[in-house]
Amino acid sequence: MVSRGARVVIVGAGHNGLVAACYLAKAGLAPLVLERREVVGGVAVTEEFHRGFLCPAVLHGAGPLLPKIAAELQLEKHGLSMIPSDVRVLALDPDGPSLRIYDDSARTAMELTRLSARDAKTYAAFHSSFEQLGRALAPVLSMTPPDVDDLSTADYLNLGKLGLNFRSLDKKDAYRLLRWGPMAVADLVTEWFETDLLCATIAARGIFGASAGPWSAGTSVGLLLQAAMDGQVTAPGSAPKGGIGAISFGRRCDDPHRRSCCRNSCKGRRSGRRGPGRRGRGRRECGHFQRRSQRNFTEAG
Ligand SMILES: Cc1cc2nc3c(=O)[nH]c(=O)nc-3n(C[C@H](O)[C@H](O)[C@H](O)COP(=O)(O)OP(=O)(O)OC[C@H]3O[C@@H](n4cnc5c(N)ncnc54)[C@H](O)[C@@H]3O)c2cc1C
Repeated sequence: MVSRGARVVIVGAGHNGLVAACYLAKAGLAPLVLERREVVGGVAVTEEFHRGFLCPAVLHGAGPLLPKIAAELQLEKHGLSMIPSDVRVLALDPDGPSLRIYDDSARTAMELTRLSARDAKTYAAFHSSFEQLGRALAPVLSMTPPDVDDLSTADYLNLGKLGLNFRSLDKKDAYRLLRWGPMAVADLVTEWFETDLLCATIAARGIFGASAGPWSAGTSVGLLLQAAMDGQVTAPGSAPKGGIGAISFGRRCDDPHRRSCCRNSCKGRRSGRRGPGRRGRGRRECGHFQRRSQRNFTEAG
C-alpha cells in the first residue's frame, strides 16, 4: 500500500504509463513519469515523417478506447475529439465486390445480400450472440487479475460477478461461450459464414496484435475479448482527430490536481539523433510537452 503523498515513479510515458499516472494523481499521489523520448505516448503518437507531414507512427487504430477511462480522465475536455464513422471496416477484394461492415448490424446484413443471401441471414444472429457474450465478459477487461495463491474478498466478488453474468446468458449463448473459447477463430467464422471476405474480416480481429494465425487454437478468445469492449465483431472505425497521438496528448493534460509530472529521462543525451522527433521543432501532437521538453523537463499539469 502506497501512502498518500508518496512519490511514485513510472518509467515510460506510453499510454499505459500516462493513464496510470493520471489515476495515481487522482488518488492523491504525486507520480513522476520518466520518458526517454522527447514525445509522450509511447507508440500511440502522431509523428512528423517529413516537414509538415504528420501521421500515426506505429498504431493505426485507437483501441476501442474504453468510454469509462475517457470520461474519468476528461479527455474530451482536454481536446480529444473522435471522428465518428458508421462504417467500421471496409474490406476490399481485388477479384470481387468489397464489403462494408457497419455499426448497425441490420445495415451490414443488407450489404451482405450482395455477397451471399445465406450470410446476410446469419449475420444478425451472429452479431446478437456476440453482443450477449461481450456483455457477460465485459467486467474481465477492467478487473484486477486475481492472485491465485491468495484470493482476496474482492477476487471472490469479481469471480461471483462473472459467474452471475454467465448464468444470465441463455443456454445457447452459454454453450457457445464455453465451446468457442478454445477454438481457432477460422473454424468459428467458417461455421457461420460462407463468404471468404467476411470470414477473413471477422477472423482478423481475433488475431489482432497476437503472434498467432487464424488456425491457431484459442484465437477465438481474442475475438471474444475484443467484443467485450463494445459488443461488436469488428474494430471501430472512429479515429481521433489529429491522429492517434491526440489520445496521449489528451491524457498528458488531464491531471486535475496538477500532482503528476513527466520528465524527459534522456537528460544529458544528445538530442540531435536521427529521425523527425529529434529536430527540435515544436510538434503539433505533443505541443506543450515538446516545447518544454527541449529543456528536458516537462510538467504534466
Ligand atoms: C507494430 C505494432 C502495432 C500495433 N498496433 C496497434 C494498434 O493499431 N492499436 C492498438 O490498440 N494497439 C496496437 N499495438 C499494441 C500497442 O502498441 C501496445 O499495447 C501499447 O503500446 C502498450 O502501451 P504501453 O504504454 O504499455 O507501452 P509503449 O507504448 O511501448 O510505451 C512505452 C514507453 O516507455 C518508454 N521507455 C521504455 N523504456 C524506458 C526507459 N528505460 N526509460 C524511460 N522511458 C522508457 C518508451 O520510450 C515508450 O514511450 C501495436 C503494437 C505493435 C508492436
